[in-house]
Amino acid sequence: MAATILIALGSNRRHGRHGRPEGVVTAAIAALAAAGLAVTARSRTHPTAPLGPGGRRFANAVVAVHSALPLTDVLAIIKGIERGFGRRGGQRWGDRVLDLDIIGAGAEVVRSGALQVPHPRLAGRRFVLDPLVEVAPMWRHPLQNLTARQLRARAMRPKARG
Ligand code: ADP
Ligand code: MG
Repeated sequence: MAATILIALGSNRRHGRHGRPEGVVTAAIAALAAAGLAVTARSRTHPTAPLGPGGRRFANAVVAVHSALPLTDVLAIIKGIERGFGRRGGQRWGDRVLDLDIIGAGAEVVRSGALQVPHPRLAGRRFVLDPLVEVAPMWRHPLQNLTARQLRARAMRPKARG
């Protein structure tokens, strides 16, 4: 079972109670802890220019949590938290109150329809890699055999892709 699980948080909409996206991210971290995922480290909350048609600025962060639960159970917990924050199912790329993604869990590799770990769209995403490096710079991507720090360095060199 996974010991340390890295979870990315993103928000680009206000929440009635938690306010701006930064407040949503802070509240979501508290919700992870309340759901039994012990938060052992958290990044700063980063402002990120919008991707895709959403058009609103995002707040992004990454946390490390400890849990003995299987990753499928962790996915169910974070999807429940997304729903609790008012996210409607099926939305992708557009506005969202809260997006929670499992980025990686040690050397675990899961490749099923419903769960892909490490997250398959990690490599090019500065908005995940920047906060990830604050939390787990030495986490090693088990398929690419690069640390988080190396993945971020590669993402910053647009012409150096192999
Ligand atoms: P995205 O995060 O790419 O914008 P969604 O949050 O809508 O998209 O996720 C769509 C589906 O991706 C989820 O319902 C979930 O089952 C699946 N999924 C696969 N791998 C992961 C992962 N590592 N973390 C979170 N969701 C995942
Ligand atoms: Mg998601």
